[in-house]
Amino acid sequence: MSTKYYAKPLNRLIGELSRLPGIGGKTAQRLAFHILSMEDREAFGLADAIRDAKQSMKYCSICGNLTDEDPCSICRDESRDRSIICVVESPKDVIAMEKIREFRGQYHVLHGAISPMDGIGPEDINLKSLITRLQDETVQELIIATNPTIEGEATAMYIARLIKPSGIKVTRIAHGIPVGGDLEYADEVTLLKAMEGRREL
Ligand SMILES: [Zn+2]
Repeated sequence: MSTKYYAKPLNRLIGELSRLPGIGGKTAQRLAFHILSMEDREAFGLADAIRDAKQSMKYCSICGNLTDEDPCSICRDESRDRSIICVVESPKDVIAMEKIREFRGQYHVLHGAISPMDGIGPEDINLKSLITRLQDETVQELIIATNPTIEGEATAMYIARLIKPSGIKVTRIAHGIPVGGDLEYADEVTLLKAMEGRREL
């Protein structure tokens, strides 16, 4: 898309918007014109929300989940079972799991999955801090809830091989979730069944 017809500030806005996932040039242009037609109060509110979220949200130093307080509310919650950790790929998966309200353990967010094809190795995901967490012998079970994709499966196998010698039970959620699917899009019943049907690795 040619942007030579736009004034610099508009060009910049379109450019920034088109960097967002799923936003092509046409959509970026439409959004930019929409933003400019908004009331100042609304448009500045949007800009403030981005700034505020970026400045106040961080990753929990224990589990890696997105939080505005460190440690996050789940890690701080004394009523949660510290003997079980559910390992997921992204903070969105924590929300998916929390929605089924069945799991009362803790989480560990990997921020990705092992993918040799993309040059992503074990050292590129949030795995070191998981190993550290397992050293105090409180944890008895690790539920691997990575996505049922090639990368998610490879990650599950890697973690199982790494952890099993320590005597901690390592389980994998069942395949209720379609292969290649994404945990965050699984409905609550499917996710609950997947948790209940988990098997030992
Ligand atoms: Zn946490």
